[in-house]
This record gives sequence, C-alpha cells and structure tokens, in this order.
Amino acid sequence: MDIKPTVQNQTINQGKTILVVDDSLTIRMQVKDLLEENNFKVILAENGEKCLEILETLIPYAILLDIIMPGIDGVEVCKKIKGDAKYESIPIIMLTAQGNTENKVKGLNAGADDYLTKPFEIEELLARLKAVLRTKTLYEELKSANHKIMEQQKSVIEEERLKVLLQMAGATAHELNQPLMILLGNIELMHVSMDEPEALAECMSEVAKAGNRIADIIKKIKTVRDVEVKPYLGKSKIINLHQKVKILSVEDTNEDFQKISDILKPHDQISLSRAISVEECILELEQNKYDLILLDHLLPDGDGFDCLDNIGKKWASIPVILCTGHGDEVLASQAIQSGASDYIPKAMLSDTSLLRAIENALEKARLKTEIRLAKEKMVEMSIKDELTDLYNRRYFMEAVKSEVTRARRYKTELVFCMMDIDYFKKVNDTYGHFAGDAVLKDMGKILKDSIRQTDLICRYGGEEFGIILTCINREEARNVCEKFREKVSLHRTKYDSIGIKVTISIGMACYDPANHVTHNTLIENADKALYQAKNSGRNQVKIYQE
Ligand code: GH3
Ligand code: MG
Ligand code: MG
Ligand code: MG
Repeated sequence: MDIKPTVQNQTINQGKTILVVDDSLTIRMQVKDLLEENNFKVILAENGEKCLEILETLIPYAILLDIIMPGIDGVEVCKKIKGDAKYESIPIIMLTAQGNTENKVKGLNAGADDYLTKPFEIEELLARLKAVLRTKTLYEELKSANHKIMEQQKSVIEEERLKVLLQMAGATAHELNQPLMILLGNIELMHVSMDEPEALAECMSEVAKAGNRIADIIKKIKTVRDVEVKPYLGKSKIINLHQKVKILSVEDTNEDFQKISDILKPHDQISLSRAISVEECILELEQNKYDLILLDHLLPDGDGFDCLDNIGKKWASIPVILCTGHGDEVLASQAIQSGASDYIPKAMLSDTSLLRAIENALEKARLKTEIRLAKEKMVEMSIKDELTDLYNRRYFMEAVKSEVTRARRYKTELVFCMMDIDYFKKVNDTYGHFAGDAVLKDMGKILKDSIRQTDLICRYGGEEFGIILTCINREEARNVCEKFREKVSLHRTKYDSIGIKVTISIGMACYDPANHVTHNTLIENADKALYQAKNSGRNQVKIYQE
C-alpha cells in the first residue's frame, strides 16, 4: 500500500477535496494517508449525520461512503445526497465489505457512481476516483452543452414566432387599409355635406359598414389563437400556475412512480395519472388529454423508444420527458433525437429538477404550438382571397405553372379561362362599393358551385377571375364557359332592397401538349381572347386562336 505519489497525481489532484465517511477510525486514517500522499485534501466524517452536516458548508470533489454505519446507513445518505439538486453531481464511491453483493446493488440503486470492496489497494482507489471524476466532468460538460442547446432553441423559436407575427401584422394592416380609407373618406364628405341630410345619411351608412368590416378583421385576428395554449411558466414556481397540467407517468416500477407522485403531490395544479406499459400508455392517450408525459425507459412490453414512436405518430404535440436510469447520457441524447423534449436521470429526480424539466418542456411545447398556429393562419391568409374565399392570384399562378408542367408530361389537355365582369365600375358608381363587393362575393359562389373538384378557380384581380379546367377538350370547355356566362347573366345579387344584374366576358386558351407553350404564354393568350370578347360587345366567350 505504500505507493509513492507520482508527479502527475500531485498536479492533477492538487487541492481537490475528498470527503471520507466511515465509522472505523482505522479505515478513515488509512484512506486519509493514502489520499494525502496523492495530494488530495481530505475531510473525515465518522457517520452519515456528520457527512450531511459537512455538506452544508462544503461541496467536496467526491465522497467515499461506507455502507454499514450506525445511525443513517450509507445507502440512505447516498439517496439523500443524490436526491438533492445541490449535491446530485458529487460523485459517490461506496465502500463495501467483501462479498456483500446485496449492499453493492443497493448502493448503486441509491445513485452511487461506483463501489470499492474493502480492503482495497491504493491503485484501485485512485483508478476509481479518476473514473468517477472523469464521468463527472463529462456529465457537467454535457449538462452545460444541453443547457446551451435549449437556450439556443428557445431563442430560435422566439425569433421565428416574432417573424410570423410581424408578417401577420403586415398582412392585417394591408387588409385594414381599404375599409379605413372608406371610413376616412366618408368622414371628410360628412364635413362638406352638413346641410344635406340625405348625403349625410348615406355617408353615415358607409361609415357604419366600413366600421363593421374593420370589426370583422379584428375578430379574425383575435381568433388566431383558437387552441388553448398553456401560459409561460417562466422563472416562477409551478405553484403559480393557474391552469391544470395533466401529466401521464408511464412507469412500471412502483417505487419510482411513488417517488414521482410524492414530488408532484404538493402541487395542486398538477394531476398525475399512471400507465404501466406502452400499451396502457397508448390506451390512456386515446381516452384522455394530457399536457405532458413522463416516460420510463424500460417497460414490460417495450422500451422508451417504442413508446416515443407511438406517441410521435398521433400525439406529437405532447412533450415527453424520458426518465432514464442513472448515467445513461448516450441513451438520453438518442431519446431527444427521437423526439423527447428532455431527459432526467432517475437518481436525480428531485422537486427542483423534475419541476424545472416540466416547466421547460411545457414552455417549449407552448412555443411550438404558437408557431404552428401562426403559420397556419399565415398560410390561410396568403392563399385565399378574403372577400370571395377563392384562391388568390399568387397561389393560382403557382397552380397554373404546375398544371401546365403536368399536362405536358402526361400529354393531357388543359384550358385556362380568364373572365371579367362587364362594366363593373358602373355597379360601384351606381350602388356603391359595398354593393360591388356583394356582387363579387356572389360571383365567387356561382363559380365555385359550377366547377368540378379537379378545376381550380381564383380571384385574379379586382373583378377578374381565373379558372383552370383540367383534362377537358376545347368543346367541352366552351360549354362549361357558356354555362358560367349564362348562369351569371341570370343571377341577381340582392343588396339592400335592390337586385343587381351583371354579365361576364370570358377568354379561353387551350393548352395542347403537342404544341407546348409556357404558362405565361397561356395566360397571355387567354387575356387576348378576353379582350376580343370585350371588343365584340361583352357577355360572350372567345377562344384564343393563333
Ligand atoms: P369592362 O367591361 O371593360 O371590364 O369595364 P369595367 O368597368 O368592369 O372595368 P374597369 O377595369 O374599368 O373597372 C373595374 C372596377 O372594379 C374598378 C374598381 O374600382 C372595381 N373594383 C376592383 N376591386 C374591387 C373590389 O374589391 N370591390 C369593389 N366593389 N370594386 C372593385
Ligand atoms: Mg376591365
Ligand atoms: Mg370589368
Ligand atoms: Mg378588369
């Protein structure tokens, strides 16, 4: 045992404090001498109580902990230390008597990092210490790296959310502009029409309508967040949470579930349910709504990854925290790659660590949901025309392009139609802008009701509409267009107490796969045909001819 201290040990171990806890004075002194020869600083405790007392004033680099001691035994001391977030990262090497396998297992289950059988050689002690210290360093690096990643993710998500919100604000401002201009214009008119009651009344009615339209838009903005989103828990304790959080613990070991349950019990806002297998977890998710899942890794009918797979298929929005055995960092990082939100080693389950993990996971999920909702709204706002609920021009242009590509590849026919309401300006001039809007809305409805599932229609511009008719030949398409034209000419838009009649002119361009033209040319050709229809007296259909 009288190994000379090496130069290397002298520098590496310089000043590192090891707490040695053993009820035998002989062992304490022996270990102290050995460690001091290797340049460690040593603090001694003769029992578990003393050890815990010392920890209140000093955090040692590692602890050598005897198992069998009078008072609190080593296993209990170990559980206490590993269950407290302040101390959980201190490596513990248990000191056991020869052959006592049961104690070794108990010690490791309690969260100990390693064990040594007495009597031991100094090389062995140094090797074990070196190993646990290296693991500790690695673990700390991993923890700080993980923390950094989480922080980065959070800021990326936040940035993305702001971007979407700004885009939405832009889109909304644009939408609000039109009724706002009408409102302001009419207020100005009211100033100069003070002694014309009829004109005044008209202005007031216009103002009211514009006001209603603005109100509608605002109502729509408010419904962007139509799905319940749990609020940010922030740095505050979960205690302050106003909403209920429903947690499902998938855990087959009673002792572990009890631990989780004990930690969460004091928090009234958290309701905890349990499943003991992958199958039961799925069943539970089918029947109830959960905000978070605490997932054990080893289950009777599969492992955490099987369960994550299943959860991801249908309940991807529910955050999952994987509860792994102690020291399974590789597994934990795999779990995160497989969709888990976080991991927590079972040995480190404590009030602080578990609640912190829950808070973080819920917050991440909340941000994700918010982004999804905002994006869905953006998508909806960016492909649909508000007034007619038809696709807008941007979306339509993409569609024309891909339909032409498809028709070319599969050698099918395709007809592009452009239609324009005749003398629409007159409608506005005669009945007012809102009457014009009502006509446009009706037009959208008529067109939508008349096309087949496979056809696509959009509001191309103010009072112009574009239609793609797929897999149709020239004559059939002409019939379809004639029917549109006739239907429109017979329709009356009811507005206030009047009925407004309009007609449309249609220009058609047929795509012939044998004679390819680009989608832009196709549109230009339809436009030329429309111009012809207008010039030939309106309320008619013309087909583009070379
Ligand atoms: P033509 O037969 O030659 O097509 O005559 P027109 O009057 O229909 O054509 P013009 O292009 O001169 O006028 C179109 C009008 O459509 C002018 C514009 O104020 C109106 N308009 C465009 N968008 C809207 C809208 O969203 N609502 C209302 N009410 N009118 C609109
Ligand atoms: Mg026009
Ligand atoms: Mg027109
Ligand atoms: Mg026009």
